[in-house]
Parts: sequence; structure tokens; C-alpha cells
Amino acid sequence: MYHRAKFYNRLIVKGELVLLKPLHIGRAGEDIYPGVTENQVLRDSSGRPFIPGSSLKGVLRSFTESLLYDEDKGKSKSCLSTSQPCLDKDEVKKIKEQWLKDPEQLFRKIYERLCPVCRTYGHQQFAGKVLFEDLDLIEETYPGVTEVRAGVAIERESGTAAEGKKFETEAVPAGTKFRFSLTAENLTAEEMGVLLLGLSALRRGEIYLGGMKSRGFGRVQLQEGRVTVIDGTKAYIDFLLRSEDEEGKDLASFLQEKEELILNLVR
Ligand SMILES: [Zn+2]
Repeated sequence: MYHRAKFYNRLIVKGELVLLKPLHIGRAGEDIYPGVTENQVLRDSSGRPFIPGSSLKGVLRSFTESLLYDEDKGKSKSCLSTSQPCLDKDEVKKIKEQWLKDPEQLFRKIYERLCPVCRTYGHQQFAGKVLFEDLDLIEETYPGVTEVRAGVAIERESGTAAEGKKFETEAVPAGTKFRFSLTAENLTAEEMGVLLLGLSALRRGEIYLGGMKSRGFGRVQLQEGRVTVIDGTKAYIDFLLRSEDEEGKDLASFLQEKEELILNLVR
């Protein structure tokens, strides 16, 4: 039985996220708004472009939902978190009323009702088990300037080109790399499969981030991926006592080793 206060295992994945195409992640972290003349890329406090971990997490989650959702609820390993959540507000309310005096049972009842994707990536009532860190620029790979692409503004209401209105979109050039790091805690075998499915796609260059995807922007790939798995309390304490960082396993061979966990999700 899963207890939230206990340590079971930890998975750490590090690598480099490479832009295969230019990337535009705007200040709102969303797709661009047509008609806005300046679409600058998101920057950190020192002015360097970066990728919010939450953006990457959101895209991997939607990708995973689209693969694992099935209209047949008995078969489905995922809900559609934004339109058809596995546990809606009314159901949460009912569970809360029933287990108000027993927080541990309340937690358990909610967790048990969540689909594997919500258990992994989170739900309004549950923080999820994966932390995606913000991705910082690897300076040597960045030419120091962004690209500016001109486009034609589209009227939001009519969907047609606005006469004479142009807009420019700033993008980080292809080839730029960012530092990738995620930590997942206490995953079950099924939840590990959910996470690895997303990482497989990321390693294959199947994931698109940010805006202007219709123009081919935002294709990214995880390269040089290394995985460290710490299984059990003793292994964790050993890890804490070690002075140097472990290199980790190659991500590609790790995914191969664990492919059963991923395939089990669609059986
Ligand atoms: Zn769900």
C-alpha cells in the first residue's frame, strides 16, 4: 500500500534538450496571440532565454493523454484532464465530506480514484510525482541572438488576415541546447511506464513546444539522457553519503530495459 509519507524510490533523468527547430515560448508561456506586434521569448532574470519546466511537463502530459485515453473507460489508462477529468469537483467534494476527519484515508481515497496519468503528472487534488526543473540555456550552444520571423496578423474574430497588419515573432534558433533535469518520486511500475512513454517521445524528437507549431516551430529532442534509479531507503541513504555524482545509465538502454512497463499500458 502506498503511503505518501514514506520513501520508496527516486528516478532522476538528466540530459540536454536540443532545439531541432526554432522555439518560441512567449511571456505568457502560451501560443502567440495573433495581432500582437511583439512576441518576445521568455527570459530569465539575467536576460537569457529559458524553458519553464511546467511548459515541457504540460506538453508531455497532453501527448501521453492522447495516447492512453480510450472512450471505453474500462480500457482507458488516462482521462482527459482538461475536459473529462477522472475525478471531478463534485466527486472530490463527496469524498472530502466523508473522510474529513481522517487525512490519510482522504488522501488514499482520492489517489485510488485517479487515473495513472493524473497520479504521475498531478491533479487539482494531488501534486503528482514528477518534478520538471526549469531548463536553463547551455550558453556555448546559443549564438547570442534570437531570430525574428515576420507573419501576417489574423483577426481573432473573423479568422482572416487583417489588412496591413504584420507582426513579428521572436524565436530561439535551432541548435540551441538547454539543461534538462527531472526527478520522480515513489512511482509504481505503471506510473513509471506513463513517464517513460513521454520520455521515449522526447528522445525520438516527437515533441513540439511553444507557439507557431503550424510553421514547424518548437520541435525538440532529449539527447545525452542519463538515468539514475534509487530503489529503497538503504539505496537512498547510500546515495546521500556518496561524495561524487553518479553518472547514471544511458536513457536509450534504460527505455529498452523497461519497455514492458510502457507496452503494458496499452494491452
Ligand atoms: Zn486522470
